[in-house]
Amino acid sequence: MIKARLTAELIRYGIYLSISLLVAGVFIFGGATMQQSQTANASACRPSGTIISAQELNQKLQGKGVFEGKADAFIAAGQRHGVDPVLVVAIAFHETGQGSSKAVKSRNNPGGLMGKGGLMSFSSLDEGIDKMTSNLYRLYIKEGLTTPETIGPKYAPIGAANDPTSLNRHWVPSVSKYIGELGGLSYACEPEMGAGDVGPASASGFARPIDKKYKISSPFGKMRNGKPHQGTDISCNKGNPPIYASKAGTVVVSRSAVSGDGYGGYGNVVVLDHGGGVSSLYGHMSVRNVQVGQTVQQGQVLGKCGNTGHSFGEHLHFEIRLGTPVQSARKVDAEKYVNLK
Ligand SMILES: [Zn+2]
Repeated sequence: MIKARLTAELIRYGIYLSISLLVAGVFIFGGATMQQSQTANASACRPSGTIISAQELNQKLQGKGVFEGKADAFIAAGQRHGVDPVLVVAIAFHETGQGSSKAVKSRNNPGGLMGKGGLMSFSSLDEGIDKMTSNLYRLYIKEGLTTPETIGPKYAPIGAANDPTSLNRHWVPSVSKYIGELGGLSYACEPEMGAGDVGPASASGFARPIDKKYKISSPFGKMRNGKPHQGTDISCNKGNPPIYASKAGTVVVSRSAVSGDGYGGYGNVVVLDHGGGVSSLYGHMSVRNVQVGQTVQQGQVLGKCGNTGHSFGEHLHFEIRLGTPVQSARKVDAEKYVNLK
């Protein structure tokens, strides 16, 4: 499906293999930067805020021909080249009939990579996965093509001379469908923006982290068990409403906190660094939707209100902190920064 692009790519990179490939966002593995796609219809995000595990991916690869048991190869290639392994697998599924095509069985070529002599061959499937992933990064991700919708027209142009039966028309919906089946992307998924009424941002730039209809149940500084409350609690019902980023920032903590790790009482907790020594914390969530290193916009969904950690009843524990490092920064009354009434 890619041959039409071959000449241009050869010139561009001055090497004999060209390619075909892929989709998803720009993300430097390990938490450096993340560029969120702003296009509509982008792929779903993994709900856990984590990268897919080898165990989970191997479950998804069961019965998928030569890909069965290959989670480690996909994940390692993703880490080497900065590409979401879910994206690589979704494209490989589409290109190979879910691991059953002749090209992948006899040539170890999971991505439909084309070279001078046509369809390329690799000495092992691991090598084929690695080459597919590196090419995906170089020709698509690095160029800012971060969604099936933006990758598809270059990877599998509709109307291409080598696509007489218009199979390329299926590329975007097919890859998107596989991404969904694999549980969504971790890196380049579309941020889910809040739909709740949080009112305007305050003069300091903070907005409510939860819909206005949810009220404060315990203000900052209220004495509890002989100690002043170090945040603001906002009760929520069991509908687990979304929690929104109060201000744009970078995710510096997203974890299911356990005792002794410094965030032990907070359960599912997210901390955003807003720059200038200002941070905010969202505790006790039922689920988290973001991962460390990710950049979030104001109003972006961080997770859902819940009752995890040291909590008695569904509520958001919200903090604004001043100073660095974030973990030991001074907690201040968030109501001085944003109208939480
Ligand atoms: Zn609290």
